Amino acid sequence: MRRVSILGATGSIGQNTIDLIARAPEEYDVVALTGATNIKQLAHDAIRLRADVAVTADETRLDDLRAALHGSGVEAAAGTQAITESATRSADWIMSAIVGAAGLAPGLAALEQGTTLALANKESLVCAGALVLETARTCGTRILPVDSEHSAIFQALIGEDMASVERIIITASGGAFRDWPIEDLPQATLDQASSHPNWDMGQRITIDSASMFNKAMEIIETHEFFDVQPDQIEVLVHPQSMVHALVGFNDGALMAHVGPPDMRHAIGFALHHPYRQDLPVERLDLAAIGQFEFRAPDEARWPALRLAREAMQAGGMMGAVFNAGKEAALDGFIAGQIGFTRMAEVVEEAMNTVAASDGHIAATMTLDNVLEVDHLARKAAQAAIQKKAG
Ligand code: NAD
Ligand code: MG
Repeated sequence: MRRVSILGATGSIGQNTIDLIARAPEEYDVVALTGATNIKQLAHDAIRLRADVAVTADETRLDDLRAALHGSGVEAAAGTQAITESATRSADWIMSAIVGAAGLAPGLAALEQGTTLALANKESLVCAGALVLETARTCGTRILPVDSEHSAIFQALIGEDMASVERIIITASGGAFRDWPIEDLPQATLDQASSHPNWDMGQRITIDSASMFNKAMEIIETHEFFDVQPDQIEVLVHPQSMVHALVGFNDGALMAHVGPPDMRHAIGFALHHPYRQDLPVERLDLAAIGQFEFRAPDEARWPALRLAREAMQAGGMMGAVFNAGKEAALDGFIAGQIGFTRMAEVVEEAMNTVAASDGHIAATMTLDNVLEVDHLARKAAQAAIQKKAG
């Protein structure tokens, strides 16, 4: 039996992970499941998967969680610290699928224990890539990418020599507003931004797909995880979301990874690695699909792509600023404080503000320093939001 934990178990990635695990309950011993507000789901899954512990990030919901778990034998816990502690419980494999920078500390804690980390939480690599990878190296722990593009790249690189890689191309569906006239984007509503043409995902990443911040973060994620230079990473708009990424080699070959837009593929690949096992995903009928379409991304429509490149160029802690500024801007958009296109402006202002402050970008990358810069960037973004709103 493999001991597994799922951080962010109630979310879209978490539920897809549970779907795979629940199909073969005899193979898994579930240690910890974590969630935040959806206590009913968390308790339901913890009981049916016989988890050792269920943890909610929200301390005010501990009594609700205890009540929901009553008599089941599943332990209840609450709070950010309890989530990080649950990640240190002995396990063979842990899914990191909390959304946002909140996933960083528990992921690091799991790596320090030597637990293989299936990483969906791209924010960890965006805000602290060097720290995460160094922790994995020094603790001899494996990180398996779960973002679909990065799983695709990882698979295309099996048996290859990184020295022969010329470029990496990650695809983007273009999100909800791919074909909107640019001048209509400032009026885009929360509802419109929250529906994705191809993927069924959490609300935040869905909006990030419409603004292209998701792809912007994935460029940084690619740069960090695969240790390739920013100018070796390209983005290609591909409306069908079936070619997830391509790796270009020095002999001109492109190795593409093709599959249906179903996260259970990337999750399953990380779950069964290094083996491939049957997965309950659709088998593509390419003749029926007929054609794949590709086009260059329009950087005027999606300034997030430029901001990601500027963040990589600045280096150091700028990734943490970029990510936190984006999280705060997204909060502002969800709360109705700013319009859709203001998000990129807010992120840019946060980056400029923190860059102008003393020594923060060049600070040593420790967890405490990342969290401090994260805090500063959110404050700067909130100030920008207030200014714009006022
Ligand atoms: P989601 O919003 O559906 O779920 C997020 C999970 O995190 C939930 O379990 C929630 O309870 C928990 N959570 C939220 N805030 C928290 C906090 N402050 N502390 C602790 N837990 C908290 O998100 P998702 O779509 O499943 O995405 C999860 C991660 O995976 C993100 O980093 C996202 O970018 C990445 N990802 C998602 C997809 C996808 O298809 N959904 C694809 C690629 C990558
Ligand atoms: Mg992705």
